[in-house]
Amino acid sequence: MLDQLPPRPGVYLFYGHNRLPLYVGKSIRLRDRVRDHFRRARHDHKAMRMVEQIQHIEWEETAGDLGAQLREAQLVKSLLPIMNRQLRKQRNLTTWHWPEGTTQPQLLSGTALNQPTTGGFFGLYRNASSAKEALRGLAETHQLCPQVLGLEAGKGRCFASQVGKCRGACCGNETISDHTQRAQTALQPLQVNTWPWPGRIVIKESPPEHKAVAWHVVNQWCYLGSAATLAAAKKLDAESASFDIDSYRILQRFLREPDEYGLSIKAL
Ligand SMILES: [Zn+2]
Repeated sequence: MLDQLPPRPGVYLFYGHNRLPLYVGKSIRLRDRVRDHFRRARHDHKAMRMVEQIQHIEWEETAGDLGAQLREAQLVKSLLPIMNRQLRKQRNLTTWHWPEGTTQPQLLSGTALNQPTTGGFFGLYRNASSAKEALRGLAETHQLCPQVLGLEAGKGRCFASQVGKCRGACCGNETISDHTQRAQTALQPLQVNTWPWPGRIVIKESPPEHKAVAWHVVNQWCYLGSAATLAAAKKLDAESASFDIDSYRILQRFLREPDEYGLSIKAL
């Protein structure tokens, strides 16, 4: 089986007894990557434990690295292989939304990123407490008021202002509008890019080094599938589009330098 693996980009799947999905991985050179697992097993205990269980290997070629990464994330989510720890986590994604004209951000579930709304989204967090922790950190760094931001209950002068960690939006030493402006500026680097296209897009991937072409269909940062031709890509079902953090991160990285990866984007 190892000899049949192509030296090309793609995803590979390891199965155990009764076709239990063990592991899904991706590589720009499938053959080398899969061989690495077996090579490592000679001296790495963890690699050995997996390799011992492999009964069957499957793989899918992709046109390039982007297709491999999108497909890997999709397969990990649908198969839940027992040894993929990183991508496997089911995330209850949380983000800060700051509606226009208000004085504090609100915690929203990541699915809100798909809904049209005013104001920005800031940060992507695994849960509400890490979102609050991040905002609390920013408040401290920028001397913002935890009370005005909604992180603490209470009225009047907050504790942070008594120890010089808040400029006093809570007690009139700073105007609320100045505070809002400073808080939004502090959050700016965390802004989540909302979907800039009117609907579905198709990304053509034709990396110069691989002589292959694929058309990836994406909507609302959600990967819908790939096809070998534009006509086939247009027929892919678009219904299940909801914000997906893994696809979001992959696409943000690749779309920053489309030329380098042989990518071009077209609205569908
Ligand atoms: Zn305060």
